[in-house]
Amino acid sequence: MPTESDERLLELAIEAVEAAARVTQTVQRQIDVDSLTKGDRSPVTAADYASQAVVCHILGTDIPVVGEEDASDLRTTERSFLPQVTQVVNDAGYEADEDTVCDWIDRGGHDGASRQYWTLDPIDGTKGFLRKEQYAISLALIVEGQIRLGVVGCPNLAASGADAASELTDGTLQYATRGGGAFGRTFGDAAPRRLSVSDETTASKIRLCESVESGHSSHSHSARIKTRLGATAEPVRLDSQAKYSVVARGDAEAYLRLPTRPGYQEKIWDHAGGVIVVEEAGGRVSDVDGKPLDFGRGPTLAGNRGVVATAAAVHDVVLKSVAAVLREDAAGSQA
Ligand code: AMP
Ligand code: MG
Repeated sequence: MPTESDERLLELAIEAVEAAARVTQTVQRQIDVDSLTKGDRSPVTAADYASQAVVCHILGTDIPVVGEEDASDLRTTERSFLPQVTQVVNDAGYEADEDTVCDWIDRGGHDGASRQYWTLDPIDGTKGFLRKEQYAISLALIVEGQIRLGVVGCPNLAASGADAASELTDGTLQYATRGGGAFGRTFGDAAPRRLSVSDETTASKIRLCESVESGHSSHSHSARIKTRLGATAEPVRLDSQAKYSVVARGDAEAYLRLPTRPGYQEKIWDHAGGVIVVEEAGGRVSDVDGKPLDFGRGPTLAGNRGVVATAAAVHDVVLKSVAAVLREDAAGSQA
């Protein structure tokens, strides 16, 4: 059961994710589609740094942060972004000069070796952010290798369904504490409601979700898994931990993250927030081999391959199809 301290830290984490959502939405609204066709990634760069700065500032210094970003490039090769990042942070109401902004970002440079730490993805799904589709701010507290609580903010995710592009919504904020359940609400002041995963148990009715980017999760493998399950619905493709969010609230039964190359180690900030939300909503999460995700190995899931997050009732059947397809492939590549 969550302790008083968990509840207090959850409040703080929600405040931080809400602030980061405001910062990132402000930048995203200013994205001019023309600059993107020229491959300009500067909006996401500025928003990423500003988001991490604001979250780290709000969290304070009591508990270290393992964040995706650090300010070393911002202080050197990407120095040209620093005035813009500082402006975004100040416009959001946090008074800080350029050095202070870098210092806040660098609070996120911890290596995950302490007993407890936050892990933060200030903008998960940067490609979705640039396309004005789904992205997430994900923050979780890890204590002795276990996820204790997590918050996933998806500013462009509508209150229901699994749409890829919904810029005009109030967004979705989900959070969970270990043993305390998972809850979701919009970013406005709507009352939170308890989340629960789908109760579908028929394999052919399983709705899969996966990355938009085939370089992050194998689309060809998931298509074969879908065929094995006899599932009829086309997989829903979403960037970021919005995939965990749609599974947690029952809009899809499974999120598959299927390795695209041997040796890739998943980053803890890409999963911790989403995993606890799904688990506390009645889901099960493992890697593709059925092993529990091990958050006790620093910044990566070094002991795992890929991720399978599902409603608990269909975990075994999904995992069986995943194993069969990966086995066929392994046999094929040895032949
Ligand atoms: P998604 O939004 O699901 O496409 O996932 C975005 C995340 O994928 C990024 O935050 C990266 O950390 C991560 N990523 C980058 N390369 C890979 C890869 N080869 N396999 C799996 N994930 C990756
Ligand atoms: Mg990420």
